[in-house]
Amino acid sequence: MQFSALQLAWMQELGIDKPWIPGGAAPAVIQPQARVAVNPAPDVAQRPPTPQPAAGSLGAGSFVQAGAIAHAQLGGAAQRSATANASSTKKSSDVAAEKPLDTVAAAAQAATLEELAATIAQCNACGLCKEREQVVVGQGVMQPAIMVVGEGPGDQEDRQGLPFVGRSGMLLDNMLSSIGSSRTTDVYAANIVKCRPPGNRNPRPAEITACRPFLMRQIELVRPFSILALGRFAAQTLLGAEAQLTEMRDKPYSVEQAGLNIPVVVSYHPAYLLRRPADKAAAWRDLQRARLISKGL
Ligand code: SF4
Repeated sequence: MQFSALQLAWMQELGIDKPWIPGGAAPAVIQPQARVAVNPAPDVAQRPPTPQPAAGSLGAGSFVQAGAIAHAQLGGAAQRSATANASSTKKSSDVAAEKPLDTVAAAAQAATLEELAATIAQCNACGLCKEREQVVVGQGVMQPAIMVVGEGPGDQEDRQGLPFVGRSGMLLDNMLSSIGSSRTTDVYAANIVKCRPPGNRNPRPAEITACRPFLMRQIELVRPFSILALGRFAAQTLLGAEAQLTEMRDKPYSVEQAGLNIPVVVSYHPAYLLRRPADKAAAWRDLQRARLISKGL
């Protein structure tokens, strides 16, 4: 088995100096100077047919070309714009005082990712709307090889309006790089709740239930080839399970959504891996599975 410099760099970070090689081949010794290289282009040959886009739109049935950057970086400029427009007319306190939004109906009515982001920016369906700086919808490309789903925005995400930033975001990006993927080429990232739980506490069941229709509609609109569920809450929310993460890892799952059967790989959240680096080796195996599944192998 051959390892690229990128993979070797990631394994080195995991503390794996001499990767185990099947078949008795000589172990590849990782050189200290191995560094992350350029992302290879994703193999999209086995991806499902792509509905052709309407000019400038990002909605259901009108996706940007696979591999192109969707500026449904709706945690980026488009989302900030949507948020700014929303907050220019209503403050969070005003939104919270209104009748709670029916997220099932609101999500279903969003025909595009931009419409969904604008709806989320006004959402008051759970108490998390009261203290958010801004909503964090998602970031990445449409029809990605992998849609990464985490738990909820943290402090940095809340300020920047982007998912997976700060140290855990850097670790996620390094993990994705190790399998030749990135948010600018073939990955879309989102969370199960779109507003920051105060003090970075875990999202509560009622908050997850309220926000889940947005995530599921987002999946319909983004149309990922596979999903990487990071952390217990993401896995439980997507799979409707109550098991612990260690019980869910290393098993085949899929999500049925709008006629799509999307494979799901469960793994550790990068924030957890920063606290427990010993589990990075297991995360590496999960990533390898995700890479193979995302290529239809
Ligand atoms: S977390 Fe989700 S359901 Fe709760 S207010 Fe934010 S967008 Fe609405």
